[in-house]
Amino acid sequence: MAVKGRTPFLAGNWKMNLDHLQAVAFVQKLNWSLRDAGHDRGAVEVGVFPPFTDLRSVQTLIDADRIAFSLGAQDVSVHDSGAYTGEISGQFLAKLQVAYVIVGHSERRQYHGETDEIVGQKVQASLRHGLTPVICVGETAEDLEEHGASAVPVAQLQAALQGVTADADIVVAYEPVWAIGSGQAATPQQAQEVCATLRQVVAEKLGADAAERTRILYGGSVKAANIASFMREPDIDGALVGGASIVVDEFSAIIRYQKHVGV
Ligand code: PEP
Repeated sequence: MAVKGRTPFLAGNWKMNLDHLQAVAFVQKLNWSLRDAGHDRGAVEVGVFPPFTDLRSVQTLIDADRIAFSLGAQDVSVHDSGAYTGEISGQFLAKLQVAYVIVGHSERRQYHGETDEIVGQKVQASLRHGLTPVICVGETAEDLEEHGASAVPVAQLQAALQGVTADADIVVAYEPVWAIGSGQAATPQQAQEVCATLRQVVAEKLGADAAERTRILYGGSVKAANIASFMREPDIDGALVGGASIVVDEFSAIIRYQKHVGV
């Protein structure tokens, strides 16, 4: 079970799904679903990470209806402003009360050529604007076979934490690439082992206090049926959820994992 003091974080990465009208309807329905189920709003932190074009609408709704969801973006520019067509500055996100930014998601590493160096710059850009980076790390199936589960995520996290100070607020997401969108999640034991190793990396880079307070999430085919088994592990403090996070009943059930039998 996640350690006391680290509030469990259930974060929904919508990827390139739901336009701004669908986003508003989705957030309302998710909120109603949690309310109808009597969900304790203080028990866990819920984060939604919509596409950029939805952020303003979702922010307005969250604000107006006092919905207890944190808002996140899926990416951020390494630059603050200037001639960078198509880029979104952390400054703009901060103005929209965005609290979190996903950095280094495997889909950006794979399809947009994001190197460890770029990911490190995005971590810095997030922190410069008071945004908490959700730093994604994870091995491919080939990495797993060649180097085992931990080597690549450890190297990616070490690179991402270059120049980060001990007081920085960060979240780490361990997402084995082979588990993302595949329906084949890691076992809780496998995920725990890597998350514990990643916590050691945070300790080495940022110190023991930072390691103790930093939330480390598991991501990769998380569903209502398996979330409780991950959340029983001591170094897993939540989940970064893709596909299941845009299905109201499924994400609602994931958020209410504490009500599942045996947790
Ligand atoms: C993700 O994209 O971060 C992810 C974990 O996706 P899924 O839950 O669909 O595997």
